[in-house]
Order: sequence, then structure tokens, then C-alpha cells
Amino acid sequence: MKYVFGPISSRRLGKSLGVDPIPSKTCNWNCVYCQLGRTRPLANERKEFVSTQEIVSEIREAVCQHKPSEIDWISFVGSGEPTLHAGIGRMIREVKSFTEIPVAVITNGSLLSLPEVRADLQPADTVLPTLSAGSETLFRTIHRPHPDLTFAKHVDGLKAFRDEYHGKLWVEVMLLKEVNDSEEELRKLADILRDLSPDAVHLVLPTRPAAESWVKLPEYDGLMRAQAIFAGIAEIVHPAKGTLDLNADENIVQSILNVISRHPVMHQELEEALNAEPKITDPESVFAALRKSEQAQEVLQNGVLFWASSSAKETE
Ligand code: SF4
Repeated sequence: MKYVFGPISSRRLGKSLGVDPIPSKTCNWNCVYCQLGRTRPLANERKEFVSTQEIVSEIREAVCQHKPSEIDWISFVGSGEPTLHAGIGRMIREVKSFTEIPVAVITNGSLLSLPEVRADLQPADTVLPTLSAGSETLFRTIHRPHPDLTFAKHVDGLKAFRDEYHGKLWVEVMLLKEVNDSEEELRKLADILRDLSPDAVHLVLPTRPAAESWVKLPEYDGLMRAQAIFAGIAEIVHPAKGTLDLNADENIVQSILNVISRHPVMHQELEEALNAEPKITDPESVFAALRKSEQAQEVLQNGVLFWASSSAKETE
């Protein structure tokens, strides 16, 4: 499969069948915390990067290959900004026509100021846009967006979508140490969130290796401060531990490489998945094969060992 992966354990969506509709790291933001490295160059034009019909066919095939209990969500996510694909609306509508599995779209929300993008996302059951800054300055510091994208446009797009959308709107706030975890910045964010009135606000943390090496997890007091200031409108969602689906591909090493090309995986999580897989008798040989492949690397982030794509991390 070229565009569909998993199901994988997701922070917010349980067993998630991922759909990656655009070429690697095609994005209009260049977030300092991005787990895929830096965006070069920024892309802000919507296109049918790959055939919409081909993607829908892969989703249909993947759904047929799994029992209903094995997939909680079909998630449009991938290695960049999925709403840049001009066919995303048709993909969602077609998926809704052949399965009752709920559809989620994980987006930076940057294109919600466009009426056609808001219309495209209407049939989704849940949309998870990002709002991690309460001011233009911080918005630019964290997301380093395409020059056409401003903070005001971003917030206006979110509000317009909130007014029109009938599904669940879960806003994701990425909390970064000494960047947006001060009382002043959190209060600015809380004001916008209250006004936006989403169905849920998820605080998430940069637990995976980030594009910039200076990105750090907030300290305990930063997390507590955020919880206190967002009281009543937010819940903290910590990264979920789960089981990787290593049956997705006949070649187990290739299956792991497919997953880590999209996001890093904790060594411990991978080890648990390999130990649970009956056809793997020697997990160490799989790790050795990953090292030998030269397509994977081990990265230590905040004291936790991850497996990441060898090209994923670009730091100073
Ligand atoms: S985190 Fe998402 S929005 Fe930000 S640069 Fe990476 S892919 Fe784009």
C-alpha cells in the first residue's frame, strides 16, 4: 500500500487506519516541533498530488482486510498537511459511502479560511486542527508558516469552521517548554479557545524527535499551569501506548520502516509489538536488520529511545 498505513496506535484515536494523501513533508507550515523534519520548500497550493481514486481504492482494500474491531478510526493525517490535497473532500465522501468506521482529519487548520476546504471537511466525524499560539508573533515563532498565512486568518478560519461544522471539533494545543507554557501565553490561548468553543481541547506534548533540537517538553509546573488555565475547556491527552499492527506487510522490517517513515516509534513500544508477534522468534534480529537497512536510526529524546526514519530529523 502506498497511501494507507496501520492500523497504528494513535494518541487520540485508538486503532487508527492512517491515510497519507500527499507527498512526504508537503506542508504550508514549518513547525519547530514537526516530527518529520523541516519543510523545504513551503507549499500552499492545493493540488491533486496523487490520484484521488487510487487513494480511495487503497482505503477500501485496507478496510476489507481488517475485522471491524481492528479499526477505530480512518484518519487522514500523513506526512504533511492533508487538506492541501484538492481531492480530500471526495475521498471522505466516498469512504463514508462504503464504511461506517468514523473518519477523522488531523490538520493544521491553516486552510479553513477557504470556504471550499471547510465544505470538504463537512462529512468527517471529527476534525482536529491545531492552535498552539495566542498571538501573531508566537504563531510565527512556532509554525513558521507560508507568507500568505497569518494568525488572524488562522483564527478566523477556525471560527468560521466552528460555525458551519456539525461533527466534533477537537483542537490540539502543542505545549512547548519556555515557548508557549508561560501564564501570559496560556491566557491568550485560553481566551481564543473559549471564544472558539470546541468540543474538546487536547494538550499534546513534543514527545517525538522534533525538527529543532531546542524543542523541549514542558516541565511539570508548565503542564500544571496549562491545565489550571484551561480548566473547563481542556483535558490533557498524553501519548497512548499501544500495539503496532505488524501484520500489515509480509516483510516485518519493511512494515516497520513504512510506519517510522511517517512518525518515530518508541523502542519500548516496538519491542512489545515484536514480542507479541508469534512469527517473530528473535526481536533483536529485527532491530539489527533495521540498523543494517540504513533507512532507520535510533534517536534519544528526553531520555526516551525512538526509532525514526534516517532522513526524518534535521537539526542545527
Ligand atoms: S507538524 Fe504538521 S503542520 Fe507542522 S510542519 Fe509538520 S506536518 Fe506541517
